[in-house]
Amino acid sequence: MVEKKGILTFKLVLIGDGGIGKVSSMVLIHVGQQLRLRLAPSEEQMLKVAYNRQTTFVKRHETGELRKTYIATQGAEVRQLRFATNRGPIQFDVWDTAGQEKFGPLRETYYHGAQCAIIMFDLTAPTTLRNIPSWTYDARKGRQYDIPIVVVGNKVDMTGEITLEQIARYAQGEKICILSAKSNFNYEKPFLILLRRLTQNPTLKFVKPPALVPPEVQLESAAVKKLEEEVQEAAITPLPDEG
Ligand code: GDP
Ligand code: MG
Repeated sequence: MVEKKGILTFKLVLIGDGGIGKVSSMVLIHVGQQLRLRLAPSEEQMLKVAYNRQTTFVKRHETGELRKTYIATQGAEVRQLRFATNRGPIQFDVWDTAGQEKFGPLRETYYHGAQCAIIMFDLTAPTTLRNIPSWTYDARKGRQYDIPIVVVGNKVDMTGEITLEQIARYAQGEKICILSAKSNFNYEKPFLILLRRLTQNPTLKFVKPPALVPPEVQLESAAVKKLEEEVQEAAITPLPDEG
C-alpha cells in the first residue's frame, strides 16, 4: 500500500477474458464452437453477447475518465478510481488491458506490484467462467503474499444459465460478486470486498456512493434477485483463509 498525495492507494489488476468485439474471427469461431458443443440452447444469442467487459466496468466510475493514463509499454490503461470511506478517501489504480488478454497470458510486468485483483467473467458466456482458475493462477503466481481476489460475474442484466454452484466451483474459494456494469448494479461491491481485506477492517464502509455514469439498462429480473440472494447467503460461510 502506498500513499499518493495523502491518499491511500492500491494497485488493482482487472483481468479476465476479452470482449468479443475486438476478437479476431478465428477466436470468434472457436468460441462459437465451444458454446455450441457444450451448453448453449440459444447459441446465436450467446455468440452475440459473449465474453466480459472489464473496460466497460471501469468506465462507469466518473473519476476513471478524469484520471487515466496509458502505459504504452504494457498496453495498459490505468484508471484512478476514488472512493470516499469512513477511513478517508481511498484510491484504486485499476490496470486494464488494451485487449492482449485474447492472445494468451498477460506479461508478468502487468501484475508487478499488484495488491489485489478483480477476475471478471461473463455470466452469459460459460467459457469465460471456465477460464477463471487460469486467471487466478496468473494473479497469484510469484506474489509475495496471497493478494485478495474477487471473482466477479458481469452482465447479470442478461442472466444466462450459470448457477452459483458453478461459479463457486471455478472461484475456488475466492469471494464472489455478481454485477451489471451497464446498470451499475453492485458496482461498488467488489471494491468494498477488496478494501475490507486490504485494510483488514471488516467494518470499512463507503460514506458516499461512488460517482457513476447513469445506467444504460434497467435491472428488473427476478432471476437477478434470486442469484444475488444466493451469493449473499454463500458469503455468510467464512472462507478458509478467514478462519
Ligand atoms: P472487454 O473487451 O472485456 O474489455 O469488454 P468491453 O468492455 O469492450 O465490453 C464488451 C461488450 O459487452 C460491449 O459491447 C459492452 O457494451 C457489453 N457490456 C459491458 N457490460 C455489460 C453489462 O453489464 N451488460 C450487458 N448487457 N452488456 C455489457
Ligand atoms: Mg477491455
